Amino acid sequence: MLTQNLGYPRIGSQRQLKKANEQYWAGKITLEELKDVARQIKEENWKTQLDAGIDLIPCNDFSYYDQVLDTSLLLGVIPERYSPVLSQVKANNEIDLYFAMARGYQKDGLDITAMEMTKWLDTNYHYIVPEFKANQEFRLYTNNIFNEFESAQKLLGSKAKPVLVGPVSYLLLGKEKEKGFERADLIKKLVPLYIEIINRLKQQGAEWIQLDEPCLVLDLSKKEKEAFEYAYSEIAKQVSGIKILVATYFDALLDNTELAVNLPVNALHVDLVRTPEQLDEVLALIPTGLQLSVGVIDGRNVWKNDYEKSLNLINKALSKLGSNNVIIAPSCSLLHSPIDLAFETALDPEIMNWMAFAKQKLTEISELKQIIDGNAVLLSVNKKAIESRRLSGKVHKQAVKDRVAAITPGDATRKSAFPVRQQLHHERFKLPAFPTTTIGSFPQTDDIRQLRAKYKKGELTTEQYDKAIEQATIDTIRWQEEIGLDVLVHGEFERNDMVEYFGEQLDGFLFTKNGWVQSYGSRCVKPPVIYGDVSRPADMTVRWSTFAAAQTNRPMKGMLTGPVTILQWSFVRDDQPREQTTKQIALGIRDEVVALEKAGIGIIQIDEAAIREGLPLRKAKRPQYLNWAVGSFRIAASGVEDKTQIHTHMCYSEFNDIIEHIAAMDADVITIETSRSQMELLQAFAHFEYPNEIGPGVYDIHSPRVPGTEEMAALLAKAADLLPARNLWVNPDCGLKTRKWPETKAALINMVKAAQQAREHI
Ligand code: GLN
Ligand code: ZN
Repeated sequence: MLTQNLGYPRIGSQRQLKKANEQYWAGKITLEELKDVARQIKEENWKTQLDAGIDLIPCNDFSYYDQVLDTSLLLGVIPERYSPVLSQVKANNEIDLYFAMARGYQKDGLDITAMEMTKWLDTNYHYIVPEFKANQEFRLYTNNIFNEFESAQKLLGSKAKPVLVGPVSYLLLGKEKEKGFERADLIKKLVPLYIEIINRLKQQGAEWIQLDEPCLVLDLSKKEKEAFEYAYSEIAKQVSGIKILVATYFDALLDNTELAVNLPVNALHVDLVRTPEQLDEVLALIPTGLQLSVGVIDGRNVWKNDYEKSLNLINKALSKLGSNNVIIAPSCSLLHSPIDLAFETALDPEIMNWMAFAKQKLTEISELKQIIDGNAVLLSVNKKAIESRRLSGKVHKQAVKDRVAAITPGDATRKSAFPVRQQLHHERFKLPAFPTTTIGSFPQTDDIRQLRAKYKKGELTTEQYDKAIEQATIDTIRWQEEIGLDVLVHGEFERNDMVEYFGEQLDGFLFTKNGWVQSYGSRCVKPPVIYGDVSRPADMTVRWSTFAAAQTNRPMKGMLTGPVTILQWSFVRDDQPREQTTKQIALGIRDEVVALEKAGIGIIQIDEAAIREGLPLRKAKRPQYLNWAVGSFRIAASGVEDKTQIHTHMCYSEFNDIIEHIAAMDADVITIETSRSQMELLQAFAHFEYPNEIGPGVYDIHSPRVPGTEEMAALLAKAADLLPARNLWVNPDCGLKTRKWPETKAALINMVKAAQQAREHI
């Protein structure tokens, strides 16, 4: 029986690649120096996997920025707008072209936009979206994959397994950039190049190649299914002497099972962490001779594997297929895991014993094999750790479980229907038509960041720190009054991050020192870890909200992060359904909402930036998710009296397919991102006759550009054509923390003027 890995984190155990990339972009190191860093990371990764005893070790999984962009370069899928870059950057041209595609190019009189970036299936990793045109050609553009295989081979011999995004997923995850064709039809032109690449790797001595085809777990059209059949039967016809592994992950194959197991390849990888139940379906249909790679180690979370559970799955596969036909593997690439638990020096040792990062997961893979080969000690050690977590008082709080179990539909429903509440809000707040507000954060300047850093290091006392934050808050409130905003915010200067800030104050969360995961390019995130039942031991935001409210006569919004967003941006428990964890968080937020109301805060915003990204990949699974996600928001929002106005905020712009669920959240006011789509997405709300109040963002906060009054007034007029004017609010697309003060001030002054103009026209 073989073991394998599908991919390893490439940012480096100390985020060396992030730092080197950023230095290279800033012109502070040479290309050779950057390449050196990359070489070291790759070699360290390969050695780590070799030492762990993995049989098939990925290569070409390294990337300076993104593996899909690597594939675009490999296949010569380079949008025309980058041609001028090539003539400008002679010396290093390939990598500079590559970075230009990833990040855009503004130099030497050129101003070329970056390629679009989007989430890699349901992960928080972002890839660079391939751009296709109708007459798209494919040609071998770089030799990177061959060079990479050569260096891996030197170190790993026949264990080196090149990894490449498969041809069908590569097309499906891209985008048509002109009308008149479907990208799936490009498969006929693309496959010959894949065949050439695979044959060349074979000549170099590769025994295996891994083709990642995550799209096999999506809802596929007939044409897309045929593309899979066509691609792999052509490859089978023209390639021999190298074994092909097709890797799927993040969901079950479901109705694509028959298609997947009948592809003429040597091995199929399935994710049995996300969907262990698919093993039976796969085993029922698998033809003789196809090897099955069983993904039993969770590549997307931080928990120690439960060997007993995994062994059940492996043994089931073994008894049907025999040991020559089963490969033990992680569920997906370990790219999505933090790198090494050994760097965590401050974790509670009891909890640390329940955890595994990428390096530890490699050990788990080989231990599972050793256990099957007869090592009983490893199994009993693992059992002890799993037991200790299962029974620990640090994880289980009966009071929290009881409270979730006792939630009633009434807890998730406001006392009166929206029209009654709206009337009360009108009488209470007496806001003008087109009330103006902002989404919460104001610029997090270097001064503010330094303040927090100094406080953390102990260079400032709590009093000094609080005084400085108070001053920033007061200044921001004065300024908001001055320019005439109607509903004020405190600016969120006391917050490092909208999830971390709450995680730090809720029980059941822990924070790692070095648990970084690549988000995109050189950007890494360090998600909190939810390890136990979540509860709220004390007020979290009341102190700052009441301080802020006391500085002004205008309404001051209280600012909270919603339960789904907190869940979505954390590593979550795998010992209970996500729904349970979310409801626990929801109760904590609910208590905070009620505490704010008691403290006199009349308007409370619960941000749910991540509801959409939690959507299951398969359409059939979405309603169930949306029910509990929306339900959790409602639990958080419904503890208050009718007179309290609940806002929510969502910074994305696709609502078409989920509009009824957004409406079911029943927020009194929702603010959304619309400026870049020119209010187009409001159509979904108009069509649905969305009944509650809504603030479609009138300017894009992602860029320093200052929009003019006329421009925003025109957007408002457009919005008023689509929705009742009395329901409209005026606000930016999102929080302002990434902006600088000068552009923020200029833009908001114009925004307030635009609202005044709109008022004159109704
Ligand atoms: N209240 C948050 C802020 O303004 C919302 C951020 C977000 O939605 N991403 O920063
Ligand atoms: Zn936002």
